Amino acid sequence: MKKFKTESKKLLDLMINSIYTNREIFLRELISNASDAVDKLYFKSLTDSDVQLSKDELAIHVGFDEGARTITISDNGIGMTKDELDKNLGTIAHSDSQAFKTDNAEQQGDDIDIIGQFGVGFYSAFMVADKVTVISKAYGADEAWQWESSGADGYELTPAEKDTAGTDIILHIKDSTDTDNYENFLDEYGIVAIVKKYSDYVRYPIQMEREKSRQKPEPDPKPEDYKPEWETYTELETLNSMIPIWKKQKSEVTDEEYNNFYKDKFGDYADPARVIVSRTEGTANYNALLFVPSHRPYDFYTKDYEKGLALYASGVLIMEKCADLLPDYFSFVKGLVDSEDLSLNISREMLQHDVQLRQIAKSIEHTIKNELSRMLKNDREKYEQFFQAFGLQLKYGLYSDYGMHKDLLQDLLLFPSSKEAGKLVTLAEYVDRMPEDQTCIYYATGESIARIEALPQTEAVKEKGYEILYFTENVDEFAIKMLMKYKEKEFKSVSNSDLDLETEEEKKALEEKSADSKSMLETMTKALEGKVSAVKLSSRLKKHPVCLSSTGDLSMEMAKTLNAMPGADQKVEANVVLEINPNHPIYERLMALSTADEETLGKYSKLLYNQALLMEGMQIEDPVAFSDLICELMEK
Ligand code: ADP
Ligand code: MG
Repeated sequence: MKKFKTESKKLLDLMINSIYTNREIFLRELISNASDAVDKLYFKSLTDSDVQLSKDELAIHVGFDEGARTITISDNGIGMTKDELDKNLGTIAHSDSQAFKTDNAEQQGDDIDIIGQFGVGFYSAFMVADKVTVISKAYGADEAWQWESSGADGYELTPAEKDTAGTDIILHIKDSTDTDNYENFLDEYGIVAIVKKYSDYVRYPIQMEREKSRQKPEPDPKPEDYKPEWETYTELETLNSMIPIWKKQKSEVTDEEYNNFYKDKFGDYADPARVIVSRTEGTANYNALLFVPSHRPYDFYTKDYEKGLALYASGVLIMEKCADLLPDYFSFVKGLVDSEDLSLNISREMLQHDVQLRQIAKSIEHTIKNELSRMLKNDREKYEQFFQAFGLQLKYGLYSDYGMHKDLLQDLLLFPSSKEAGKLVTLAEYVDRMPEDQTCIYYATGESIARIEALPQTEAVKEKGYEILYFTENVDEFAIKMLMKYKEKEFKSVSNSDLDLETEEEKKALEEKSADSKSMLETMTKALEGKVSAVKLSSRLKKHPVCLSSTGDLSMEMAKTLNAMPGADQKVEANVVLEINPNHPIYERLMALSTADEETLGKYSKLLYNQALLMEGMQIEDPVAFSDLICELMEK
């Protein structure tokens, strides 16, 4: 007996002891494996002229024997060699189960969720069977092999007899108990219903010998007391409709069917947020069925996440994940494209240069954009949920490729703002409700909304009655810089040194006061040499003594982000200005020191500068020196 690998064993134990109510999905899993195997053989026949095959013969067969308590799922697909049986059924290698493995570490015992979340594959057979026998003959091989396991901890591999290539999977169904009933899986109608429910779109016929009854032919001549006689017979019936869901008219398909197809095909446990059915004729002929997931996949921001759409040529799968069909900023979209314009045995390399494919991709990009815009307009709540999950990706898209996609993406953005707590605003809405005298779009950056709202720099803008967009993600300010303007309105950070919010009189008053404070400001600037480019008086501050602002294109937040990036060995620095509130009591104190004690003024400067940094949510350079300085000044 060979032992299962540890991970496989864990999964297996879970299946055996499963209390999952949807046990019936085992059939979906086995049929989908059978369909994959048939696909593989069919694909081989297209690319390899040695493989002679007629498409009509390809099929999956489901049979059962109530007396022996078995269900058999057979396919005439590619089959497995001894090594493949060993490798594929003895270890979990595929991605879904791999994900299961990592997740399982944290969620042990919570098996219901786990089973619901991932395609569970071959081992799901053990939810309903206490013994599983697999007899397989690989295409082109001389010998067949049998794999058999009763779950526990291992399996046996023995030579077997089988005439043709393909795989038979025989499940020995568990006995029913008081609490668990397995009889449905040994019942013709039960099995047929499960197949139709989950596997209706499988592209190969799923056949079953069905018992039927018919009237026996009437004898001729018919006796007086003739009573019609009935006989039962069996007939091979195809259970699935096979028409791919994306080929059906939208009106023929229910929402539930679309949702089930999505969950089944893309291994999600939740319904999609949006289903996009698109049929295009013209420069690019294709059917597309796309889905916007309702939540962010757990691996979305890992290197394991692969974007792409499944690509079919006239109903035949040619690529599971065609990355070229989706731009990065829509990488969250799942789905498939079926086109008659593509040839079947096109290679991956050729696809990259395929004009048709590029046209399809372009058209899909617009379809997705339009659908998202529609969602934003008609179903705001759902869009906001979507944006919580994938908004970041749209912002990255705006920033990438030197802002090339801004026209496509700018109206899909949402930001929190100072206007209404908990609500998000689009750029268009912001501009629409701007007061007449407002000329720029104001924004403030910070770690969180609460942090931003406490920023001294926001005071003056708010007092003017202007709305402020809150940027809480690192990418926000970078993305917006790519836009430069929206509807002719420039973006301006509230931390910009040149906010220009004052009236002429206010400006004049400030200028005069600044002239009086010239020597003090000079002393302070000197004390902060290398840290700030200037110290100046400011009219923007209301109750706070100081704040930092910056001039030029690079804000402090942006510099912080850039410097924190991996590989940023050359530090960039923003051009920082320390602003002082001339109406704050501290101002008088500074003025007094300016004539009496320049050395202490220098120390005060450092203190205020560091305080301003802290308020900004920035790190101070030397916390120890800072606290020493506080003590020193306290002792005075
Ligand atoms: P997945 O289908 O996600 O790869 P499964 O656990 O369902 O994972 O199956 C594991 C592997 O076993 C498959 O990838 C395939 O290589 C092999 N396999 C399972 N069933 C069959 C079959 N009927 N014919 C050929 N290979 C099969
Ligand atoms: Mg599978």
